[in-house]
Amino acid sequence: MKTTYEVNKKRLAKLLAMEEERFIKANPKSEEIYKRAQRSLVRGVPMHWMDNWPSPFPLHLKKAFGASLADVDGHEYIDFCLGDTGAMFGHGNEEVAAAVQNQITQGSTTMLPTEDAFWAGENLQQRFGLPYWQLATSATDANRFAIRMSRIMTGRDKILVFNGKYHGSLDETQVSIEDGKMVPQPRISSNAVDFERTTKVIEFNDLEALEKALAPGDVACVLTEPIMTNVGMVPPEPGFHKVLRDITRRTGTLLIMDETHTISTSPSGYTGAYGLEPDFFVLGKAIAGGIPAAVYGMTEEVARAMRKYTKKDGYSINHCGFGGTLAGNALTVHALRATLEKVMTEENYNHMTMMAEKFEQGVTAVIQEKQLPWHVTRIGARVEYMFSKSAPTNGGEAKAIREPELEAAIHLYLLNRGVLLTPFHSMALMCPYTEEEDVKRHTQVFRNCIEEIV
Ligand code: PMP
Repeated sequence: MKTTYEVNKKRLAKLLAMEEERFIKANPKSEEIYKRAQRSLVRGVPMHWMDNWPSPFPLHLKKAFGASLADVDGHEYIDFCLGDTGAMFGHGNEEVAAAVQNQITQGSTTMLPTEDAFWAGENLQQRFGLPYWQLATSATDANRFAIRMSRIMTGRDKILVFNGKYHGSLDETQVSIEDGKMVPQPRISSNAVDFERTTKVIEFNDLEALEKALAPGDVACVLTEPIMTNVGMVPPEPGFHKVLRDITRRTGTLLIMDETHTISTSPSGYTGAYGLEPDFFVLGKAIAGGIPAAVYGMTEEVARAMRKYTKKDGYSINHCGFGGTLAGNALTVHALRATLEKVMTEENYNHMTMMAEKFEQGVTAVIQEKQLPWHVTRIGARVEYMFSKSAPTNGGEAKAIREPELEAAIHLYLLNRGVLLTPFHSMALMCPYTEEEDVKRHTQVFRNCIEEIV
């Protein structure tokens, strides 16, 4: 499928060069820090993704507040990236900030549970429908533990993922499909993982391939998002989730629903909104308002197995490996409670969704005005524009319609005019502090940018 708008590459390259120059001129302090940091940090940043913006170097943050950012060179930005979802409930959310300030002086990590944890367990149970819960420090870890538990329960080694997925840096998920075959993802060496033994990868929405892959009964779990969000957005076709659940149940395969991004759908995620019935529910990033945390829910059956597997073995040492030293600590759990109780409310979601609808309408209007064969997908508070007439049906199609230079040019044009999108793709997220004026600003700058390009 190649239905993209054929942009004039020369014109695009010229625009990109102009925008790079403009960025460099406007950000001398960020550049200076970046250059100095090359001597102590790999690629000049504490985590290499921070160097993956389309700009020649990353902005250096001074302060983030509500739906805005300020950088060290004195510019302000409307933030639609929101820490790639970690700050989905706003920067410095007052409820989370108060909870963190309160708890930090009363102990942050002690290896003892607090009453907040029990409160959170009950809230998660009611909210997402699964009866038992555990904490981890990141979504990556939570997925790792759900996979581990699935393997323990089924005695099977393999997991199944969909082409184009991202669920964290889990070794056995680092594969993709090329020419119909599973291959290690580019730049990931096999890392001592025998993918043939650990992994199956198929295209999203391909129920025939799913049936075939699960039929031998050698797959411990399917790990998926309800809508793919890490290769652009790929929605499920009608009936996909029902059949996925039927086949996984029939073949004794556990189903892990990773809602780390799709929690944008509703206060109970996509699972709550569409009545899905996974065996595991994973949610990280924003769940404790920006304090590193993840939760994973499980069925009664899984909890029974986990209880058995993690049970105290007399007084002997237990290294069986779920969680981690700082998982579920007092500070995290206090922030988690504040987020669940006071931030992940219907009222906030209504506002965020309304802003996202306006964002979607703005972009759609520009696409229609300029008669571009592009489309917009929205899932609650999250919006993505992509360069094809209709939404891709799987990760392979989504990869084929990527236009990295075009995307970089749009992102940098927006950034130079005070609007920040998520790097890697054109994803915008709304938070409780996002205002209609912010959305209008995006639409206006996006329109100007498109006029320069086409
Ligand atoms: N699951 C999904 C769906 C994600 O998008 C991501 C990160 N983009 C992760 C898991 C991993 O999150 P983290 O890096 O916070 O562990």
